[in-house]
Amino acid sequence: MTQPRRQVLEVLDELQEPVSPYNIQEILLKKGKRLNHVTIYRVLSLFCQLNLAHKLSSVGGFVRCKLSDKEGCHRFMICRQCGVCHEFADEALCEKEKEIARNLGFCTELHLAESVGLCRNCKQDKP
Ligand SMILES: [Zn+2]
Ligand SMILES: [Zn+2]
Repeated sequence: MTQPRRQVLEVLDELQEPVSPYNIQEILLKKGKRLNHVTIYRVLSLFCQLNLAHKLSSVGGFVRCKLSDKEGCHRFMICRQCGVCHEFADEALCEKEKEIARNLGFCTELHLAESVGLCRNCKQDKP
């Protein structure tokens, strides 16, 4: 693995919440490491292809994949308040979706599975 890849992976490993390429650039800068955001973006795209990380469209950030050895679609529940992100996979859910697509004669090319809401901790703060 090249130096920029290792540095970006380290940042993702340390964080629970989704981050943008600019966030990563700032975090690296604080550690005295300079990477331009184009490089970071390229590294992130590669990680997404390799399933090492995922792009979360609803919040526009990237997270480290926590289920790399699991089959099936990786799904997310993202807290809109603290940004904590739970990743999970559910084979039965995938099968159900495939069945629905089959019944519609639909060919799925891009699959997004993100739920946005409040995590257990943030929900407790609410009256
Ligand atoms: Zn994943
Ligand atoms: Zn939360």
